[in-house]
Amino acid sequence: MTVRNSIPLSDIQKAQVRKAADELGIDPDNIVFYSGPSVYSDLLDKILIGPNIFPDIIVSKNITATFLERLSMRAALAHEFAHAVTTRNGIAFDAGSVEDEFQASVFAAREIAGLDKDDQCRLILDAVERSKERGGNIKVLKSIIHV
Ligand SMILES: [Zn+2]
Repeated sequence: MTVRNSIPLSDIQKAQVRKAADELGIDPDNIVFYSGPSVYSDLLDKILIGPNIFPDIIVSKNITATFLERLSMRAALAHEFAHAVTTRNGIAFDAGSVEDEFQASVFAAREIAGLDKDDQCRLILDAVERSKERGGNIKVLKSIIHV
């Protein structure tokens, strides 16, 4: 099971998310804070931000942590934004599918401006790791995504 932050976001953390969103080019109207897991809702066309947008501070420093557990708030936000952009551009796959998750992380790493090299690397490694866990073939996935 993936361990990320589960403590409700403080006002300071919400302000950090808003600042990161602004730097990534996300319209502030697209961000909604709530208590559930962070997700892009294609029905609402909003990025719903929950506590797990932040890594768990202790787990993320553990060498056995997965790349998903190590994703920074900024990288996780870029991943959700990538779902929004690919959906709006009509190039998303079925929500929750291996293809859609792989594409969102690769798209975030390659196309979303405002991420540093570490975040870009972690997003690519997350894309590969999560796809493999679900039986995805990386070669095939790379050939079908629209990035
Ligand atoms: Zn996703």
